[in-house]
Amino acid sequence: MTEENDTANKVNEKPAEVEPEKKVVESRYNLRRRKDDGDAKPAEHTEEVEQKPAVATAPITTVLEFGGRLGVFCMTLLLPATVLGLMVVCSQEDASLMSSPPLPALDSLWDLRVFGMVVLWLLFQALLYVLPVGKIDLSYIHSHFLQLAVSSLLCSVLLSVYLYVRSRWATQDLLAPGGNSGSVIYDFFMGSELNPRIKGFDLKYFCELRPGLIGWLVINAAMALAEMQLHHLDYPSPAMILVNCFHLLYVLDAFWHEEGVLSYMDITHDGFGFMLAFGDLMWVPFTFSLQAYYLVHHPNHLSLPWIVGIVTLNVIGFSIFRKANSQKNSFRRNPSDPTLSHLKTIPTATGKSLLVSGLWGLVRHPNYLGDLIMALAWSLPCGFTHILPYFYVIYLSILLVHREARDEAQCRRKYGSAWDDYCREVRYRIIPRVY
Ligand code: NDP
Repeated sequence: MTEENDTANKVNEKPAEVEPEKKVVESRYNLRRRKDDGDAKPAEHTEEVEQKPAVATAPITTVLEFGGRLGVFCMTLLLPATVLGLMVVCSQEDASLMSSPPLPALDSLWDLRVFGMVVLWLLFQALLYVLPVGKIDLSYIHSHFLQLAVSSLLCSVLLSVYLYVRSRWATQDLLAPGGNSGSVIYDFFMGSELNPRIKGFDLKYFCELRPGLIGWLVINAAMALAEMQLHHLDYPSPAMILVNCFHLLYVLDAFWHEEGVLSYMDITHDGFGFMLAFGDLMWVPFTFSLQAYYLVHHPNHLSLPWIVGIVTLNVIGFSIFRKANSQKNSFRRNPSDPTLSHLKTIPTATGKSLLVSGLWGLVRHPNYLGDLIMALAWSLPCGFTHILPYFYVIYLSILLVHREARDEAQCRRKYGSAWDDYCREVRYRIIPRVY
């Protein structure tokens, strides 16, 4: 007797005939991670026992549901038509289901590029499905944090080398003003090419926003999960929730106002070299998430008044940051924007004007002020035991003071005496009456 027959007979001998089918169903809809089954040696055996009899005993469907053949044929046609019909009606001013809107022209229903996008979306989802991402696998990030940082560093170095090498062949008009010194190390660090692109793919713009900022949020979420696992919590601690929410707000804001990034010094002035590649791929995700990482191993209890105080501080910082950046961006886009007509301006020889009232009349970099207030609000949930969670505020203060000086020098070059007038009118740089 063959093994197959043997198995089949054994199954048929069992008194409960539904058993093999039940097993097959269980295995098909098993919600455990496939990896969890990885070490379960009997897997091959189970498959053999489960699947072979299932094929042999698959019952013929005699009771037809959904109205039988005719019913399912009609549904196959009607269901897609219903979706499209609802969408067409919904787009009408009179969105009544009793209305009979004109049918859209056939060619308006099809575009090959749109079809390509849908296929890409499905492939992207398939990739996410295959990759080990999910609630449980996020703990991988916490347990491999250093290795992830080292790998990101390697990627940023390789990218910088590629950027430097390709910049050697770039035409002069593509070079950044500050990264064409002729010194290998200086140009490697500062970046020679202003906006290196592969076909239409803008490498700097992509790195500036996507891998680092999204990576930062993913790491934060992983830390929240690690905290729950380590301390057997049902939910992340209030401190962890605050840190995650504040950072999420900041990143969502950056994406929401993505076009504003185009006016940042990084994009308009700095070349793309090690400084930005490292900043985007390693510095941002791995140092900005330090507060969440810290909280995993250093829990900090927050009383309600503290929570209210910290949230208020973040709201104040965010409001200043957002309002200042939005005002400046709107003003640059349209200097006669009616919503800004109440603000005072001074003209410059370049034809552009400078805002000298409102937030931009309070200090010369109100957006930096808002950023710094937020930075403090992000650190406070970690308490006062160590200075490490305050690393971000300290770093940002140094960076923004240095950046302010760089911007000041550029603006003085651009606007000459008008800039001096502005400085006389608005005396403080970042913090009113202090700096
Ligand atoms: P800004 O967005 O402040 O832009 C500076 C430019 O704005 C100047 O060069 C000038 O350019 C214009 N400008 C200056 N003063 C005026 C005025 N009074 N009226 C109108 N226009 C004016 O600079 P950054 O690119 O440095 O910063 C962008 C944002 O990024 C900030 O909010 C900053 O806080 C944030 N940031 C955050 C970092 C972080 O690590 N979290 C790091 C770096 C920045 P022009 O006149 O040519 O338009």
